[in-house]
Amino acid sequence: MQKVAILGSTGSIGRNTLDVVDRLSPRFQVVALSGGTNIELLAEQTLRYKPEIISVATESHAKDLKERLASLNCLTSKIYVGMEGMLEVATHPQAEIVVSATVGALGLLPTYKAIELGRRVAIANKEPLVMAGELMQKCARENRAEILPVDSEHNALHQCLRGEKKHEVVRLILTASGGPFRNASKEEMEKATVKEALNHPTWQMGSKITIDSATMMNKGLEVIEAHWLFGFTPEQIDIVIHPQSVVHSMVELVDGSFLAQLGRTDMRLPIQYAMTYPERLVLDLPRLDLPSLQKLEFFAPDRERFPAIDLSYKALQLGGVAPAVLNAANEVAVAAFLAGKIGFMDISKLIAQALLACEKQGVKELNSIEDALNADDWTRVQTSAFITELADLSLTGKY
Ligand code: MG
Repeated sequence: MQKVAILGSTGSIGRNTLDVVDRLSPRFQVVALSGGTNIELLAEQTLRYKPEIISVATESHAKDLKERLASLNCLTSKIYVGMEGMLEVATHPQAEIVVSATVGALGLLPTYKAIELGRRVAIANKEPLVMAGELMQKCARENRAEILPVDSEHNALHQCLRGEKKHEVVRLILTASGGPFRNASKEEMEKATVKEALNHPTWQMGSKITIDSATMMNKGLEVIEAHWLFGFTPEQIDIVIHPQSVVHSMVELVDGSFLAQLGRTDMRLPIQYAMTYPERLVLDLPRLDLPSLQKLEFFAPDRERFPAIDLSYKALQLGGVAPAVLNAANEVAVAAFLAGKIGFMDISKLIAQALLACEKQGVKELNSIEDALNADDWTRVQTSAFITELADLSLTGKY
């Protein structure tokens, strides 16, 4: 039985991971779960999987969970709190596979620590790779850890690259659904509401990543993620809009062949692949019905309406901590948009502003995880100040 720890067990990837664990029973045993704030679900998961340790966001969540578990007569798991708890889960001594599925920068340190211990890390949380991909790859090489992508595009690329030599690959092509504003005008996007932005056409996901899909920052982050996962230059990584989300990504080879991975939009496939690689096991889910698809379309992305794409390439070119700055500015801006403080198009403006501020003071090098975390802190302060400025300007009618 392989022991599994899950960071982010109550989110969409976490729940799907547990479904894969159930389907492949008794292959995996869950030893540690970190679940943030959804205590009701975490109590259910604890009752069912009996992990040795659980981690929650705060002391009051821990108290709530303890009470629930007591009433269920299930008090065998040890409960931890906050970052300390996430680190306990990520470094559980028995865990062979760590599924990294938290949202945002929060996952960086725990994911890094799991890599340091030489674990297999099935990574769905893209921000750690964006913030410190170079360090994570170096750490993985030194400690013989495997990083297997769960993000559907990168999982598709991993599958396409399995049998290929690196010098025979010309280009990686990430597909993007285009999100809810694929055909919207710039004016409509300026006025877009939170509800409209959360209305993703093909994938059901958490709110942060759904807004990232609407701005196409998700694809920008994925370009950076692909760069660090597979070692191709930014010029070798392209984005194509594919509204049907059937082709999950492609690689182009030197002889002009294209290899693609196709499948239904169900995260259980990439999760199972990452957990069982290099084996391929049966996954009994509905299959693609090719005739019913009728058409697969591909378009070039509109870089003017979706400035997040070019900003991501720029951050990658700037190097050092610039991708961490891009990521933090995006996280703060998305939270502000979700809270109704800024407009939809302000998200990319704030990211551009943060990158410019970072460039002005000279882009710092990325030599340690602390460098990435410091850049993250610095950017959060800067971007929050920009948001206050923006609000003042809009109140006085100057914006
Ligand atoms: Mg993706």
